[in-house]
Amino acid sequence: MLRGTPLVIMLDIDGTLCDLVERADVAVLPEAVRAALVLLERRRGDGVHVALVTGRSVADAQRMIGITGIPIHGNHGMERLLEDGTTCGPDGFDVEEARLHAAAGDLIVLAREFPGTSVEDKRFSLSVHFRGMNDELVPEFLRRASQIAERNGLRSASGKRVVNVLPVISRNKGDAVRDILHETGATSSTASILFVGDDVTDEDAFVALRPIPGAVTARVGEPTTQSAARYSLDDTRAVRELLQTLVNPRT
Ligand SMILES: [Mg+2]
Repeated sequence: MLRGTPLVIMLDIDGTLCDLVERADVAVLPEAVRAALVLLERRRGDGVHVALVTGRSVADAQRMIGITGIPIHGNHGMERLLEDGTTCGPDGFDVEEARLHAAAGDLIVLAREFPGTSVEDKRFSLSVHFRGMNDELVPEFLRRASQIAERNGLRSASGKRVVNVLPVISRNKGDAVRDILHETGATSSTASILFVGDDVTDEDAFVALRPIPGAVTARVGEPTTQSAARYSLDDTRAVRELLQTLVNPRT
């Protein structure tokens, strides 16, 4: 299913290319995955396009991946890396920016009440991580975090041990995926398309690819009927093996 040209490989990072760890800032990309990404990126002349679509900010994703030349869509599709190395957000973002700033202040106050949490200001969205928090406190914490989002005219989307606070009018991973397909010429019937992700905001990408016959969408984790993805991959190791197969399709 992935032998067509162009071949567009779109990947989430955390929970997909690397395992989730207690603190997002210490997550490491496995060397074998980095090597596979480098080899796939070098085949751009043969119509192979790799793109990362992550909840991390573009700068953070770049730091973590450490490979130049791979397009990155950060902040769940809100931010993108331009060819000159700068990043840009969606149209009309300046109004939302003040709201995000106010919400960040409120969330920092909230995080002080709940040990094991931290607030990450990614400019185009906020992430409140609670990987270290006591499970009993989670429902109350989620309730109060979504109240803060609402009070500031923003929306919240909870993921795996994280609450994302996002502008109401915004782009999601589905918009990012549509842009990538358009820009890589993957709208032709000969194209092969792959998207792999593991979490709630990846569902927007799975849904965006549903109408495209043959598009391969895979969710990392236990198979569930709750996902719009067509396939599931057991874990990050299965993702790595898939990427290695794409590097050496004949082996
Ligand atoms: Mg993820």
